Amino acid sequence: MKLQEYQSKQIFAKYGIPIPMGRVAATANEAKHIAEELGGRVVIKSQVLVGGRGKAGGIRLAKSPQEAEDLAAQILSMEIKGLPVRKVLVDEAAAIETEIYLGITNDRAARRPVMMASSSGGVDIEEVARTEPEKIIKVYIHPLLGLRDYQARDLAAGIDLPRDHWRAFAQIARGLWQAYQEKDCTLAEINPLVITAENRLLAVDGKIVLDDNALFRHPDLGEMRDQDIEANAEIEARKYGLSYIKLDGQIGCMVNGAGLAMATMDIIKLFGGEPANFLDIGGGAASDKVAAAFRIILADPSVNAVLINIFGGITRGDEVARGIISALKEVESQVPMVVRLVGTNAEEGRQILADANMITAQTLVDAAQKAVAAVKGGYAS
Ligand code: GDP
Ligand code: MN
Repeated sequence: MKLQEYQSKQIFAKYGIPIPMGRVAATANEAKHIAEELGGRVVIKSQVLVGGRGKAGGIRLAKSPQEAEDLAAQILSMEIKGLPVRKVLVDEAAAIETEIYLGITNDRAARRPVMMASSSGGVDIEEVARTEPEKIIKVYIHPLLGLRDYQARDLAAGIDLPRDHWRAFAQIARGLWQAYQEKDCTLAEINPLVITAENRLLAVDGKIVLDDNALFRHPDLGEMRDQDIEANAEIEARKYGLSYIKLDGQIGCMVNGAGLAMATMDIIKLFGGEPANFLDIGGGAASDKVAAAFRIILADPSVNAVLINIFGGITRGDEVARGIISALKEVESQVPMVVRLVGTNAEEGRQILADANMITAQTLVDAAQKAVAAVKGGYAS
C-alpha cells in the first residue's frame, strides 16, 4: 500500500526528520487559508500516487494566497496519468540549493534492507541507476544491529555532503531507518532531501510503501488508504479477497493460483499477445468470488478477449462455470472468451460454458493461441 506524500511526510516528522510546514487541502479556498497561515510563498502539490507530478504540472509555486487559490483550483481539476487530483498539499516553499536522494528498500539478493543515497536527487532514481549507477552509494543494514553511525557517515562521505551537514544527515538516516522498520515498509524514500538557502536539511518530498502483509499490525496506517483515489477495480478485488493487478494488454486473465497466473501470462506473450491483468482467484473460489473476478475483468475497456485458465483441485470446475454464467447475466459482454478447465468437475464445467457459447480449449497452449487469435479478430468459434 502506497501512502500519499503528505502522509509519508507526517510519519517522517514523527521520526525527527525535518519537513516543511504545511497542510493538505481538498478545496482551493482551504488552500488559500493555509497559504495565509504560512504567510508567504508556498508550493501547491497534487496528492496522487504516481511519479513525475512536477512534469505533469501538478506542482506549482505560488507567491501569494490569491495565487495559491488559483493554482490549487487548477491542480484540483486536473487528472494526472488518469488519476483525478482530489487533494493538494500546501507547503511552505523551500529555497532549494541542493537536491539529494535518500531511500531504503529491501535488497532481495542481499537479503537485507539497503539504504541508498545520491547527490543526484530530485530526479527519478531509476534513471540515475540506469545512466550513472556510480552516483548511488549503498549500505546494507543488518536487520538486528540496525543502521550504524559509521554507515550513515559512509553515505554522507560518498555523496560529498559538506561536513557541517553530517550530524543532521545521520539523524535523518536513523529516523528513516526507524520508520522503515517500525512501520513495516517496503520502501521509504526522501526525494529530494534538500539543502536550503538557510543551510538546513529538509525533506521536501516523501514516499512510503507499506507491506500489505504487515498491515494488520498497523490498523492506523490501514485507515490512511485513500479509497477514492485507488482504482475501483482494486478496491473491488480486495473486497472479495482476489489478487488483481491491472496491466497494459488486451487479454483479460482469470486463473486460480499465482504460479499458474504467471505461467498463463507468459504463454499469452509467447504467442504474441499481451495480458490485460494478473488475476488470481485463489484456491476453492466459490461462484460469487468468480463472478466478482469476471466483473472486474470485463469492466476494463481495453479487454478484447478473456482467457480463463482453471486447474480444478480444491476449486471445482462447475462452481467456476456457474460463477461465470451468473456474472454474464449482470454484465453484458460481446468479448470472446476462451476457457481451459481441467481437474475436479471439469467436464460439468466445460459443458455449462460450451452451452453459453464460450470457446473451449484442451491445453494451455491451445487456449493462449485461441485468445491471441480472438484479439486479432481471426478466431471464429
Ligand atoms: P515529484 O515530481 O512527484 O517527485 O515531486 P517533488 O515533490 O519531488 O517535486 C519535484 C521537484 O519540484 C523537486 O525536485 C524540486 O525541484 C521542485 N520543488 C518541490 N518543492 C519545492 C519547493 O518547495 N521549492 C522549490 N523551489 N522547488 C520545489
Ligand atoms: Mn520527488
